[in-house]
Amino acid sequence: MDLEEARDALFAQLVPHSASECISLTQAQGRIAAEAVRAQLPLPPFPASAMDGYALRQQDTSNHETFRVVGQSLAGHPYLGSIHAGECARIFTGAVVPDGADLIVLQEQVAELATDQNGEKNVRFMPHEADEDYIRPVGNDVELGQQMTQPGDRLSPLLLGALAAAGVSELNVYQRPKVGIFSSGDELRNPGTPPEALALGQIYDSNSFTLASLLRHLPIDLITLDRLPDDPDAVEEALAEASRRCDMLITSGGVSVGDADFIGATIARLGELSFWRLNLKPGKPLAFGNIGDCWVFGLPGNPVSTIVTCLLLVMPSLHVLCGTVPKPLLRIPATLASPVSHHPGRAEYQRGIYSQNASSGSGLSVKHTGDQGSNRLSTFSGANCLIEIPEDSGDLAVGAGVNILLLSDLLT
Ligand code: AMP
Ligand code: MG
Repeated sequence: MDLEEARDALFAQLVPHSASECISLTQAQGRIAAEAVRAQLPLPPFPASAMDGYALRQQDTSNHETFRVVGQSLAGHPYLGSIHAGECARIFTGAVVPDGADLIVLQEQVAELATDQNGEKNVRFMPHEADEDYIRPVGNDVELGQQMTQPGDRLSPLLLGALAAAGVSELNVYQRPKVGIFSSGDELRNPGTPPEALALGQIYDSNSFTLASLLRHLPIDLITLDRLPDDPDAVEEALAEASRRCDMLITSGGVSVGDADFIGATIARLGELSFWRLNLKPGKPLAFGNIGDCWVFGLPGNPVSTIVTCLLLVMPSLHVLCGTVPKPLLRIPATLASPVSHHPGRAEYQRGIYSQNASSGSGLSVKHTGDQGSNRLSTFSGANCLIEIPEDSGDLAVGAGVNILLLSDLLT
């Protein structure tokens, strides 16, 4: 299966978590709306001034020299009277436009502001063409009852701001799926163990930290589980137990065809294994299946493979599980600034650094981050994209056109 086929197969199988809960807007950041929320009031809720100036009647501008200032309207402190012929009210941005007024003359247009012997203020404006009325009508931004969300919308800070403005203080969101993360391998030790305490052949478990960090912003309950040893019975027991309390399990390592690779076989024994060979690099061995109601991803153990498969397959799958629609991969054309060596056969996702094309000033250029071994986490340092080398491509020279996938896009 190639990447797109794998994604389509995943999206077709995964069923969103449908249970919802009502939460306060202050808790809703990053959650997925489970309902169509409607504006509780029009925005603005009253005719509002767009500028600082004077509110008056348009019809008076042709037959009045000066206007008597009868009051003032500040944001939150409206003038409650009406504006009659020859009158105006001092007004500021966001304040209610008083009854009768249908024009704001900007304060920059004031020619003279004088107080007469009765203590009354009069204002005279410079001759000018009023190009607009500077009044925001009721509902100009959002109408009463306007639909603000639909089920599946991710509640971004921008959307939350709009909901707050529209008088929404709580809403129904999908419950967080429970997602468990396993590392596997007898060679792994916890970070924090002093280097001198590592026996020969032991390394730190980085994948469970990377995976948890990659997924932390998603609306899921993350559970970091005890590491799986390279022992088939222990793997079976642990997966069976975790599958009963999680909606998805993600393992890394032990998914290839080595003597100590039990993940695929265990998923097949406990449930169903849907596929486990992908035509992409890094990430060839990958298991996906289910144990009862729990989805299981068996990711390859090489740290770069773990990350790339998580970005391209697991994160969009989690979007589906969380109740939202995964966005299609955003491929952006760029020009190679470093040569790429590639054997036809598998699509490859190299770590790259893109920047604005220096020579032509338009478009993007991209270089890879050096030797692309799938064990080399250092190939991610400085990287801001993945360079997609098509399956049938051979070596590519500087100047060749490629597509890149932005990490900033994949990480959301
Ligand atoms: P495996 O698929 O289990 O053979 O693992 C492939 C490679 O990835 C081996 O070199 C493992 O030591 C390494 N590896 C597996 N899991 C992890 C992990 N959690 N953290 C760091 N390296 C790992
Ligand atoms: Mg292993």
